Formats: sequence, C-alpha cells, structure tokens
Amino acid sequence: MKKFFAAAAAGIVILLCCGCQNARPERQQRVDTAMGTVVQLNIYTADRESRATEEILVLLRRLEEQELSRRLDTSEIWAVNEAAGSEEGSVLSPELSEILEDCLDVWRQSQGAFDVTMGPVVKLWDIDGWAAGENTGTFALPEEEALSRALKCCGSEKLQLEGTQLFMPEGMQLDLGAVGKGIALERILAYLEQDDSITGASVSVGGSVLTYGQKPDGSCWKIGIADPTGASDNIGILSLEGQWCVSTSGDYERYVELDGVRYHHIIDPVTGYPADSGVSGVTVLTRDGFLSDALSTACFILGSERGMELAAEYGAEVLFVKKDGSVVMSSGMARYVTLQQ
Ligand code: FAD
Ligand code: MG
Repeated sequence: MKKFFAAAAAGIVILLCCGCQNARPERQQRVDTAMGTVVQLNIYTADRESRATEEILVLLRRLEEQELSRRLDTSEIWAVNEAAGSEEGSVLSPELSEILEDCLDVWRQSQGAFDVTMGPVVKLWDIDGWAAGENTGTFALPEEEALSRALKCCGSEKLQLEGTQLFMPEGMQLDLGAVGKGIALERILAYLEQDDSITGASVSVGGSVLTYGQKPDGSCWKIGIADPTGASDNIGILSLEGQWCVSTSGDYERYVELDGVRYHHIIDPVTGYPADSGVSGVTVLTRDGFLSDALSTACFILGSERGMELAAEYGAEVLFVKKDGSVVMSSGMARYVTLQQ
C-alpha cells in the first residue's frame, strides 16, 4: 500500500512538473519610476498569479531608500556621508563595502576618471535638478572658488576602507549615481534566478538594461542604442541571447544649456567640469550589471581611445558615438549590433 502511495505521489509530482513546463509563459508588463528614472519591466512567467513586477519594484525602492540614495535620510549612503570627518567613521554593510571595493577597482583602472567621491562637485552643479526642472531661478556656472573648494573634498585616494570600516575626510560625499542602476540590475537578476516560473525577462532601469532567459518564441532580445545626435531614434540595435547587461551614458538627456554650451551631469574629476572627451554617448555590454554601468560612465569621461582600453581590461564590449555622429566600437561588439542607416 505504501509503495502504491509513493508511486502515486511520484506520478503526481511528474504530472505537476509536466504541467509547469507545458504552461506557456505569458508576458507581464509594467512601467513605473524608481531612482529618479523610468523602470520598464517585461517578465515572461508561467505563473498566472505571479507578483514578479510588484516585487521587483519593491526591491528597487528598498535598494534606493535603504541603501543607495544620497538624497534620502533613510539610506546607508546618507548615514555614511553624515559621518564624514568623524573619528569613528562608519561600519558598512557587507553589500556596501563590496560595492565600494568594486568602485575603487574601476577608479584605479580608469586612472581616477571614475570616482564615486565626486559628490560635492556633482551637488554643486546639480545638473540632475536643473534638467528635471526642480530648481527655481536661472542656471549659472558654479563660482570658481566654490568649485575648487568642492574639488578638494573629492578623490578616492582620501578614502580609508579597511574591511567594512570606512573613514572619509570632512566634506567628502559619496554619490553612487553612476552605478546605482547597474547594481539594481544585479539585484533583479538574483530575483529572477530564484523564481523557476520565470523563463525570460527584459528590464530597463533608466539607461541600463538586463536581458534574461528567452522569449517564448525563441527570438532574440532587441535593445535600441539611442542616437545622441537626435537625428534618429536609434543609432543601432543590439540582438542578444540569454543574460546580458547593457548601460549607456550620454550628454543628451541630463543637461542644461547656457550661451550655446551644453553642461551635462558626468564630471571630469581633473577639471570639475562636465567631461569633454569628444563623445556624446557610450554603450557598454557585459554580463555584469555593476560593471556595465560603471564602465559606461568611465568610458564617457576617458573618450574612445582610452575608454576602449579600459573596457578591454574588463572583457566588456563598448560602442562610442562621437560628437560628430561617427561610431567606434570594440571588435566583439560588432557581433551583436546592427547599425541603422
Ligand atoms: P551615468 O553615467 O551612469 O552616471 C552619471 C552620474 O554619476 C552623475 O549624475 C553623477 O551622479 C555621477 N558622476 C558624475 N561624475 C562622475 C564621475 N567622474 N565618477 C563617478 N560618478 C560620477 N535623480 C533625480 O533627479 N532624482 C532622484 O530622486 C534620484 N534618485 C536617485 C536614487 C538613486 C539610488 C540613484 C542611484 C540615482 C538617483 N538619481 C536621481 C540620479 C539619476 O538617476 C542619475 O542621473 C543617474 O543615476 C545617472 O545615470 P545615467 O545613466 O544618466 O549616467
Ligand atoms: Mg553609469
């Protein structure tokens, strides 16, 4: 009798499994906002009751509010910035100390171009605020004295990170704006991987996109690379299979114009001014969300020649759109991209 029940139970399990596999995944879509940007979710799931899109948004908001935001007094970054200059410093969560180690690695490899301690200068310019129409009055360039004072507070060489213990000099402020969306993609990937009913997904958090698994019809994921010149919608289309991360940094979305000059949000740590390396947009393709986001910002500051070398050091593919509209890309990138005529 026991054997019968065991066999019957096994049969039920097998039938249930067959049932799961045969249920055709359906797409759940959602567009919302988080981290000051637009989030687009396309999830293919065999679970008709799936709450994946809601849960991913909760995960993103938690990441912003509890960990990464420099604007919200509920976040760990806020507390770390508040502790700048104190003797005790801060004890970081394991997650944040790992993120900071990774940021320091890209800082070293980019010879200081990518630097998450640029907070005081980023805040002084506040291009995000001006571009979002949050500020009143008229935009003006920061005064030279204020800029050089803010620059003196920056520089990752002044950070002391010993395990999870961090000391920052007074006035220093961390700003993870260049990697927050990439970190978000990593957290979303971990979520997708633990849900067996999800067979494929494409997720966009601002300019950073994650592809995962496959579509029910087996076709490739298609990701448009925006044309920074505005002459067309996309300068090219990436065709991807399986899991990838794609991030784009550019001077064409978050900027202010004054006397015919465009001031954007990516700052060259050498000058304290918006980076001017001859490129308008950089797209990086890697398997890793953090790296795609960090490298797109770093490569934008470094320009096409040095940026190409940096991407190669991390095994990432990269595409630059120069200010004259011409395109330069790594040889590996050419396998995935179709340029639009
Ligand atoms: P990226 O190239 O990825 O990053 C550019 C950003 O990196 C700059 O905006 C600056 O923050 C920083 N940066 C500048 N120079 C350097 C440098 N040399 N090295 C390293 N970093 C540099 N924006 C809002 O307007 N309102 C919000 O409420 C808001 N909340 C946010 C919350 C979180 C958790 C995060 C991560 C970002 C938030 N943002 C907000 C910021 C906004 O989304 C940023 O403009 C965005 O992160 C920049 O992304 P990007 O892809 O355009 O450019
Ligand atoms: Mg970035």
